[in-house]
Amino acid sequence: MFGIREGNKAAARTVATIVAVCAWVAFATSTSAFAKEYESGIKWLEPKVIEPGEKCGDPPSDAIILFDGKDLSKWVGAEKWEIHDGYAVGHGHDIKTKEAFGDCQLHIEWATPSKVSGSGQGRGNSGVYLMEKYEVQILDSYGNKTYFDGQAAGIYKQHPPMVNCCRKPGEWQTYDIVFNAPRFGEAGRLVKPGYVTVLQNGVLVQNHTELLGSTYYDQPPKYEPHPLKGRIVLQYHHNAVRFRNIWVREIHEPPIASEHASK
Ligand code: MG
Repeated sequence: MFGIREGNKAAARTVATIVAVCAWVAFATSTSAFAKEYESGIKWLEPKVIEPGEKCGDPPSDAIILFDGKDLSKWVGAEKWEIHDGYAVGHGHDIKTKEAFGDCQLHIEWATPSKVSGSGQGRGNSGVYLMEKYEVQILDSYGNKTYFDGQAAGIYKQHPPMVNCCRKPGEWQTYDIVFNAPRFGEAGRLVKPGYVTVLQNGVLVQNHTELLGSTYYDQPPKYEPHPLKGRIVLQYHHNAVRFRNIWVREIHEPPIASEHASK
């Protein structure tokens, strides 16, 4: 009897050992110490090191400052615009940047008049035109109804914002815009449409929205071939809309080693 019990114990120990070894092998082969590491094969170069802004909305070190509250020297057509206490007030004409931009990230802060007058499109109207052609609407859309693809943060007459997150008239608001310019090929054929993403006051309101062409008041959207870069325009629409802290960054994809990129 004693011999049989000892035999059972030995068999149990053997089974337990086998189970433990199998479990360890399964665990070990699932860890990076034994698994073959995946490599994409792409030779990325180190991304450029930049300094972010001190707080959200401040320009990072690689931004081009378009308006820092002091002067509008980076713009043309601003003779009638006035500067007060770090902001510019629209008056007389549209203004446009001296420099042209293509794919870019644009930060802009704006405020419609605190004294409300007018309604619909006549209340706090302005706009940011990318490449002088594609308008992201600026409007006092706080309790002010108009056609939805013409309210604040709409791609004018093409696509309404996903939500209305406007602050009250007179309060400062932000747009952070990511713009991918359209591409044209031979004979001006559209190869790739433009896309616009907008965060208003930190809220996503346009999500990689496809542009259907230039934005017009009196005709349907239409693409007309143009260079890879164009100027940014701030619209004057007979309302004293204020602007401050405007900066832009050109978008560059992370670099790839040239010998790889050429393959
Ligand atoms: Mg407008």
